[in-house]
Amino acid sequence: MTYDRGPHDLGAGCSAWLLPEGGWAESNTGLVRGDGESLLVDTLYDLGHTREMLAAYAPLTADHPIRTLVNTHSDGDHWFGNQLVAGEGVEIIASRAAAGLMTQHAVDEMAALPHRQDQVGEFIRPIAAKFDLRGIVPAPPTRTFSGRLDLDVGGREVRLVEVGPAHTAGDVLVHVPEAGVVYTGDIVFVGGAPLVWTGPVSRCIAACDEILGLEPAVVVPGHGPLTDGAGVRRVRDYLDHVATEATARFRAGLTVEEAVDSIDMTPFDDMSERGRIAANVLNVYEELDPARPRSGRLEQFGRIAALELRVQA
Ligand SMILES: [Zn+2]
Repeated sequence: MTYDRGPHDLGAGCSAWLLPEGGWAESNTGLVRGDGESLLVDTLYDLGHTREMLAAYAPLTADHPIRTLVNTHSDGDHWFGNQLVAGEGVEIIASRAAAGLMTQHAVDEMAALPHRQDQVGEFIRPIAAKFDLRGIVPAPPTRTFSGRLDLDVGGREVRLVEVGPAHTAGDVLVHVPEAGVVYTGDIVFVGGAPLVWTGPVSRCIAACDEILGLEPAVVVPGHGPLTDGAGVRRVRDYLDHVATEATARFRAGLTVEEAVDSIDMTPFDDMSERGRIAANVLNVYEELDPARPRSGRLEQFGRIAALELRVQA
């Protein structure tokens, strides 16, 4: 999918900064400008990318400095660059559930992945090579909330809607009603397959319905090019398909691996990062079988890596 790296004007004081190809850790950010101040939606996975993004926004923020930073969720590609925005007079906001995961431990964990001598390491090394996690000092939220939070950004109304647990424990949508813009975080991927780390899938589907209910003119996904309701429905269709097919295979006694191998995903062949199906099916199985121990990020990543490396081979 071809789209331009950098800032995009969405009208009514809203912008997005996009990072092609929208793959692993190649995330987007948003900027909402009001009278004399701005709100930034997310930072990027490392300091270099975050600096580049802030420099591109600089002409827009010169007279409207960033006073609020909202992190849509706790994955590093949406907050590791926070320290370049943090400081006196800047409020950093995330859901309470997300904030609990935005720690030094999270940085260390991601920095260690490329050094692993297993399939996770093998899979992550070419991705990690595009980024530089050195120098990251966590700048966690200074304000947290649950449910909903309405903000006034220099006279512009910005609504935060917690939809997690879904993709992660504490996902938040950023809605700018008068602009018809929704910044979705990783509830929406465009081009790449959806990914359910925490779930359950039903809550990811509900989050899609929440976005569609806002009838947005522009949807800024966590990764990939700009979209609208059609892009959200595509994510919803994928999740619905995987949930239905995985549930049928669970009831028929198939293992997770057998389910992953036998679900017909040809309607979604145009998506990249197809190995995410391994984590998504596992999530459905865990929801249907409460006795099954919940897997951690490393096991989920391991299953995705194994599938991606098999496809690449
Ligand atoms: Zn992301």
